[in-house]
Amino acid sequence: MEPIKSVDLTSQYLRLKTEIDEAVAEVIRSGNYINGQAVSDFAAALAAFSGSRFAIPCGNGTDALQLSLMALDLQPGSEVIVPDFTYIAAAEAVALLRLVPVLVDVDPKTFNLAPEKLANALSSKTKAVIPVHLFGQSCDMAPILKIARENNLYVIEDNAQSIGTEYVFPDGSRRQTGTMGLIGAFSFFPTKNLGCFGDGGAMTTDSEELAERLRKLTVHGQSKKYVHEKVGVNSRLDTLQAAILKVKLAHLQSFTEARRRVAAAYDQGLQSRVDILELPYRHPASTHVFNQYVIKVKNDRRDDLQKYLTSKGVPATVYYPLPMHRQPALCGIFKTGSDLTESEKLCRSVLALPIHTEMSEEQINYIIKQIIDYE
Ligand SMILES: *Cc1c(COP(=O)(O)O)cnc(C)c1O
Repeated sequence: MEPIKSVDLTSQYLRLKTEIDEAVAEVIRSGNYINGQAVSDFAAALAAFSGSRFAIPCGNGTDALQLSLMALDLQPGSEVIVPDFTYIAAAEAVALLRLVPVLVDVDPKTFNLAPEKLANALSSKTKAVIPVHLFGQSCDMAPILKIARENNLYVIEDNAQSIGTEYVFPDGSRRQTGTMGLIGAFSFFPTKNLGCFGDGGAMTTDSEELAERLRKLTVHGQSKKYVHEKVGVNSRLDTLQAAILKVKLAHLQSFTEARRRVAAAYDQGLQSRVDILELPYRHPASTHVFNQYVIKVKNDRRDDLQKYLTSKGVPATVYYPLPMHRQPALCGIFKTGSDLTESEKLCRSVLALPIHTEMSEEQINYIIKQIIDYE
């Protein structure tokens, strides 16, 4: 058996080598390394794939969040709701712009922003909310969008981990994550479901005016050459990365299916261990693209199980060990928007098992066997 990795980027590349090498060689030959043809081609393909009118590429997912917030022109001190249990990027972008991250607890089953705890977090300064679609599953967007509508809040979706996920509204209509709010922020970091060979990101929106504003912000707020309307940033998706992403986007559906097969095998194989584990919950209103397969370990045995698995050659990872309200960087900056008890508990119980597109049945069965044998 090949050694188990938490992600196997090399094997995936080798499987797609001919196509990717050709796309990369074409960019190198063209000499158009910045804003080449592949960048606009990929943007159009991403918009079509996600069902959004516009997609604006940028340098990475964190920039996508920052640029989205910059486009809103919020007054310093305005409050932005972010979940307490997530990656730092959302709260960090908020803080960087001198806005106030207001931390709200998450649902212990889905790991996503708890809509019922959202309403109480609002103040007269609240201007936006950033739902993060964590691990591959959509936030419960219907109640979140309702609260946002009633309180004039902008909704920026952090879709870094959930490209291709579908949410079903109570009326039966379906939308992809990243296209339900005002702006969706995407990351193409190598370990995301659609990853490039370096950093990459994008924003989606249905508003033409906003798309134009976002595009300008990525190029120093430039309206025409050497005329700068706004203070922007330099955040572009390299042509090389766009060419790779264009190739890989065409395979995303099969990547997702491969991830779902691994998840289904875990679901089935680990049934007998619900004495110590809680398996990932599938929200009835969302599909799941399994950027991570995150179990909860009962009775404070998470660290012990992780150590045991490591000793058996199974890399199991903790996303996330620290809630936002315990991040040193946010100390004195954030506001508490609700009790944060679930987030706090999750940080002590979550464990992500290896899941990626290249896992063999032998590897999956080995991992399951180790967990079944765990005492
Ligand atoms: C990866 C990630 C980001 C940041 O993306 P980068 O491209 O690494 O900047 C933001 N939010 C979440 C939830 C992520 O997982």
